Amino acid sequence: IPSLVTAKSLSRTYQMRRGLFGAGVDVRAVDGVSLRIAAGETLGIVGESGSGKSTLGRMVLGLERPDEGTVTFDGEPMPASFTREWRRSRARMQMIYQDPLGALDRRLTVLDQVREPLDIHGRGVREARAGEALAMLSRVGLSSHLAGRYPHELSGGQRQRVVLARALMTAPEFLVCDEPVSALDVSIQAQVVNLLVDLQEEFRLAMLFISHDLRVVRQISRRVAVMYLGRFVEEGDADDLFAAPRHPYTRALVSAAPAPGAKSERIVLTGEPPNPAQRPPGCAFHPRCPLAVDRCRSESPVLRTLDGGRRVACHLVEGAHQTREAA
Ligand code: SF4
Ligand code: MG
Repeated sequence: IPSLVTAKSLSRTYQMRRGLFGAGVDVRAVDGVSLRIAAGETLGIVGESGSGKSTLGRMVLGLERPDEGTVTFDGEPMPASFTREWRRSRARMQMIYQDPLGALDRRLTVLDQVREPLDIHGRGVREARAGEALAMLSRVGLSSHLAGRYPHELSGGQRQRVVLARALMTAPEFLVCDEPVSALDVSIQAQVVNLLVDLQEEFRLAMLFISHDLRVVRQISRRVAVMYLGRFVEEGDADDLFAAPRHPYTRALVSAAPAPGAKSERIVLTGEPPNPAQRPPGCAFHPRCPLAVDRCRSESPVLRTLDGGRRVACHLVEGAHQTREAA
């Protein structure tokens, strides 16, 4: 399957200041990540805060430039975000953030928010655009009596539905969703995720779905990548990966969020949560890894491809081909 989105060896380093007058430290937020997403396919990215998921998502969408590496969209290099090419290709890709209120214009009614992308791209006549916007509102499960309301008059779940309706108006092919349900009540989260699953299928959207919540990622993704301190430590088919995680970090995550009915022993991680400003040498996971051996403290494991297409970065995982993965 040809991929719609291809990222190769993306890296991004920030300068962070320690204290008010402290020296700047280099923080490598993303470190050599490669990925591919086919048309209509969802790649879920799961990781703790500080793992570099959001930076990766922004780079994949052209909102942030990588220091190294490339992104191509539909065979073309991703244009820089300040260029006219990018604004044109913008209709084909959209970003959904955690905070829907921040993504909406508080002065516009729901209907105007949803219609606005069509107004900007100058498609159709005004009345027809209103009709399309109303149809899209109903598609995302919002009744027409909300059309005249303002964002602050809506619930969090309703707002995120408005954001989705607005994003879909330009018929995008690619959506980056960065923690799209994390700010919502747990009872509402499942509804919005179900809606995303339906929309993804109906509009055949390619999606990069970012979340710290394994359960949410599991529900929506066909493939999953697990991120730790700026790198993929494991990637594979979602069902396979959750059924048989190979990397010790993935095993711990899965054991903390078992599938309904699954019996598995809870693996509790000790040690500090990851801090990108203090990357441990060797395998960055070694201070928390229950299986760490001497080699892990000095030698960084490479992401290798196993039979069946699983990719894993761990010295102890057997059966890995010795070839370096080239996405
Ligand atoms: Fe654990 Fe070593 Fe594998 Fe890293 S390389 S995950 S420390 S066993
Ligand atoms: Mg984030």
